[in-house]
Amino acid sequence: MAKAKVVLTDYVWDSLDVEKKTLEGLAELVPLKTKTPEEFLPYIEDCDALLNTYAGPITAEVMARMPGCKIIARYGIGVDTIDLEAATKAGIIVTNNPTYCIEEVAEHVMALLLACARKVVFYDRLVRAGRWELAPGKPIFRMAGSTLGLVGFGHIGQQVAARATAFGMRVLFFDPVVEEGQHGVKAKKADLREVLSEADFVSLHPPLVPQTRRMINDETLRQMKPTAYLVNCARGPIVDTDALVRALDAKIIAGCALDTPDPEPLPDPHPLRGRENVIITPHAAWYSEQAMAGLQAGAPSEVRRVLSGQWPVNVVNPAVKGKNRAGL
Ligand code: NAD
Repeated sequence: MAKAKVVLTDYVWDSLDVEKKTLEGLAELVPLKTKTPEEFLPYIEDCDALLNTYAGPITAEVMARMPGCKIIARYGIGVDTIDLEAATKAGIIVTNNPTYCIEEVAEHVMALLLACARKVVFYDRLVRAGRWELAPGKPIFRMAGSTLGLVGFGHIGQQVAARATAFGMRVLFFDPVVEEGQHGVKAKKADLREVLSEADFVSLHPPLVPQTRRMINDETLRQMKPTAYLVNCARGPIVDTDALVRALDAKIIAGCALDTPDPEPLPDPHPLRGRENVIITPHAAWYSEQAMAGLQAGAPSEVRRVLSGQWPVNVVNPAVKGKNRAGL
């Protein structure tokens, strides 16, 4: 039997040994380093599966160009690079990897919260510039007893809540689906306005979907306290960047820490760069050596399952069951 063809649109790690080993004997891997469909379209017409990291958007038109593709397997958690409705219509199974980096992102959020609260990055920059002074960092407020507002209370939000509680913080969350006490994590459910207006730190953890795109905008930023910090380790477009810059200029909020700015990478120069009260990390929240191993194994394993006639583990468009190109 001819080997299947699996196209990898893009990847950000050094070796493809895990992918090759996972697909061994079953499929040929075509690894690309592309960003847009225009770049990967010439390679996908006869593919049986697509592995995807960040390249996209993978729209209905793209799907129509790969009539034999049975599965699009995303390496990470968010599936905003893929039009899920179009995939379901086209009979393509879409999978993600929902738990490989939950702890890492929660740890990164805590690092950013602490860095904002204790002005760690600010003071380090000061010391590097030859200044040994406390006063420029004033005011600093005690973190214990402060309020953390979480927008989105899924896997990551809950892990952040557990850690913040250990720091003595009070946790409020807004989530249209998750109920208070449902997962045994101590936090009070509230509406979005209450979360934004009461929080000393607002951390964003929803998926990027039409309802959350630019949900942090001029109006919602104005609901935050002028002493509050915004942390975004979810997806850049959840925040309206222009509105955030306006809010920082007008001191509507105290500062922010972004692992996922919009756009990514953030151009240089950019109005968010070079500010004393802004911390930016390069979409690094997910990474640890352990997460990397989990990340690399997940998506190719799902491809292997589908190409061997098995229903995959983490399907994000379950409506496709019984109505897909793989006949599963
Ligand atoms: P999850 O699916 O477990 O949780 C998301 C939660 O958001 C769910 O409980 C859902 O009900 C809630 N939600 C949906 N719509 C909402 C809305 N309009 N307002 C508020 N909440 C809403 O996902 P997760 O694993 O916790 O991931 C959260 C985010 O983190 C995603 O955006 C994901 O892409 C991002 N992420 C980023 C990195 C990184 O490296 N920075 C790594 C992994 C995940």
